[in-house]
Amino acid sequence: MSEPSISLSGVRKRFGDTVALDGVDLDVQPGEIFGILGRSGAGKSTLLRTVNLLTRPDAGTVRVDGAELTALSGRELRAARAKTAMIFQHFNLLSNRNAASNVALPLRLARTPRARRRARALELLDLVGLADKARAYPGQLSGGQRQRLAIARALAAEPAVLLSDEATSALDTDTTDEILDLLARLNRELGLTVLLITHELEVITRICHRAAVMEAGRFAETGPVPELLADPATRLGSSARRLAARLLGEEAVR
Ligand code: ADP
Repeated sequence: MSEPSISLSGVRKRFGDTVALDGVDLDVQPGEIFGILGRSGAGKSTLLRTVNLLTRPDAGTVRVDGAELTALSGRELRAARAKTAMIFQHFNLLSNRNAASNVALPLRLARTPRARRRARALELLDLVGLADKARAYPGQLSGGQRQRLAIARALAAEPAVLLSDEATSALDTDTTDEILDLLARLNRELGLTVLLITHELEVITRICHRAAVMEAGRFAETGPVPELLADPATRLGSSARRLAARLLGEEAVR
């Protein structure tokens, strides 16, 4: 097997008396969509932020695309960090710049020539289904369109991995499905590697190849999603059965 895109080993992080990460090991393979499911406070955001070293772990190693980030600092760390891109629940777009300019921003930071930036921005907008919105400002776009725009921007610098922090949590069900389907398509067509965190079971079941359930700073279970779902003894399997029973129960009542 090739080298993992992301490899965490023995990662620990405390905030005062709170143990946010209690020894996490994780390998995400190139071309994989890996999901981490957990309740609020489980340590998901802290974990995601250690992957690009926005949060530096107290112990353990973090490797991304072959580089050990935990061994780097300064310019080397910034260069290695550029191998990751992140999308967020609230999009984090620049409201005073239009869509094309938002997408071109990472290219400007990477000193890509202006004409190339413009062409690449239009290509990426087309890829996410926003070809006709190049001049629109974020305030003129729907939630789903804003997240598409954020995804296009994240892809601009050609990251090795996309980190998704609850990217669909602010969206309604149909829009959530659209965004998840877009991520799945980018994964298939571009071989994009995705590590996502979520508190929604449906996000895991719809697009993730493998998943981990996180509790109190640890992985309580990890495995291929179809295997976890097929086994009623797993947390994922039992949650899916409870959800199905609830939905079917509600159907029956109507
Ligand atoms: P999740 O994303 O699963 O909701 P977090 O990673 O945000 O969980 O938080 C895990 C634990 O670490 C929580 O108890 C949270 O309060 C604590 N925590 C996270 N970030 C900080 C911080 N910057 N300072 C203090 N405590 C924090």
